[in-house]
Amino acid sequence: MIELNSIYATSIPARPEFASPSGNLDCEVAIIGGGFTGMTAALTLAENGHDVVLLEASVIGSGGSGRNGGHVCQGWSNDFHHISRQLPADEAKLVWDAGMGAVDLLRRRVEAHQIDCDLRFGYLHAALNNRQIRDLLAMQTEWQAKGYDNFTVLESPDKLSAHIGTTAYVGALHDAGSGHIQPLKYLDGLARAAGKAGVRIFEHAAVKSLENEHKSAHNDVKNGGLKTHPVKRLLLADGQTVRANFVLLCGNAYLQNVGTAKMTRCLAPVTSSVLATTPLSDNLISHILPQRAAVADCNTALNYYRIDADGRMIFGGRASYTNVNLGNVESDLRQRMTRVFPELADCETAAVWSGKIGITVNRIPHFGTAGDGVYFVQGFSGHGVALSGLSGTILAQHIMGQSRLFNILSKLRHLPFPGGFLRTPALAIGMSWYKMRDYLRL
Ligand SMILES: Cc1cc2nc3c(=O)[nH]c(=O)nc-3n(C[C@H](O)[C@H](O)[C@H](O)COP(=O)(O)OP(=O)(O)OC[C@H]3O[C@@H](n4cnc5c(N)ncnc54)[C@H](O)[C@@H]3O)c2cc1C
Repeated sequence: MIELNSIYATSIPARPEFASPSGNLDCEVAIIGGGFTGMTAALTLAENGHDVVLLEASVIGSGGSGRNGGHVCQGWSNDFHHISRQLPADEAKLVWDAGMGAVDLLRRRVEAHQIDCDLRFGYLHAALNNRQIRDLLAMQTEWQAKGYDNFTVLESPDKLSAHIGTTAYVGALHDAGSGHIQPLKYLDGLARAAGKAGVRIFEHAAVKSLENEHKSAHNDVKNGGLKTHPVKRLLLADGQTVRANFVLLCGNAYLQNVGTAKMTRCLAPVTSSVLATTPLSDNLISHILPQRAAVADCNTALNYYRIDADGRMIFGGRASYTNVNLGNVESDLRQRMTRVFPELADCETAAVWSGKIGITVNRIPHFGTAGDGVYFVQGFSGHGVALSGLSGTILAQHIMGQSRLFNILSKLRHLPFPGGFLRTPALAIGMSWYKMRDYLRL
């Protein structure tokens, strides 16, 4: 039962809806993509008095933001040395602090805009073997040295069983600063807030092409105090045009028609899938996840799961580079789930869906420029619920001249994925190696 859409919309009585453009538009900033990145960039710009048009090819939340596992993870998406070794100490510190503020930024937005999205704190990084425990302890030591004190090590079976009822793990790191959320409710709340702040949001507004307009038309677009660039002309699938001083590409793994070859080469779309059960009994939940913490194991092709506000198990996993043969996704996810919690063997599946995660070679988000006044960020590497909101804010602050972070982050090197026309098989082989290593518990 593979669904195009996640189960999330079923628990939202009335989703916001937005018209498609009925004519040509002018604006200061055009944003391509109605996920967390685009919406937080739009909100930040509009809150600062700028004139923003947001264009979504389908409906808000049709990309990763409306179909993810809902895990709200602290920090950057890979070991920080991938960033710090490329930067002077003061810049590395700025980047560290920004990453560690991403969850708090999300929490503040939820509070400020009174977004009812089931945000809950408590997270387990679960280790399947001793190598993974050692890695978690090293992470704890590094983060603690930088001032992060939300971790508790759960090494004994007793300590572990207070949080999770399974024998699958040898230990875990509990993080009180990470948690989970109903992602579509959060995105809808951001969209409502952005609409209220004056963002003109359009659905069914696929951008087909992006080009610089002839210079003579330059002065027609209001610049609202932003530094002026050659005017960009975006052509939509239905024939309308949108003219803008700045363009933000916020399509991540779903980006189509626009962007540069370098963006494409440096991003691999990986399919991940999620299964939702029907609501479980309180008794069962108190046995398997008594604190209702979200959990991710430490494998490369990891399992990630949580109990949602309706008592469903939301179980994700099963990374695939080949993006084919989704037929056995449900049985595969059920197998993974019952290996952790055998008592879930009899529970019913309510829905299964898949989506594309954008990953980079070093698993660090890729910031950059795709033309004069055209900026992008992509590749949150499965860590985007909090990081995309930070990244959208960084893009917005950059064009407002309010932050150094974009310039610092866009200096980080991003290698292309290898393989040329053999890219997909090459990625699949690479992934198989990591899966094998996890399987053999090396
Ligand atoms: C199955 C799955 C599970 C995940 N689980 C987690 C998790 O638990 N925790 C976590 O932190 N991260 C998770 N992620 C990753 C996270 O969802 C993403 O990093 C994040 O949502 C990216 O947000 P975004 O706004 O950059 O892109 P998206 O939400 O993908 O939005 C991009 C939008 O751009 C639109 N678009 C593209 N091209 C155009 C165009 N030419 N014109 C107009 N619109 C266009 C698309 O239609 C799409 O709606 C998961 C992802 C998936 C797929």
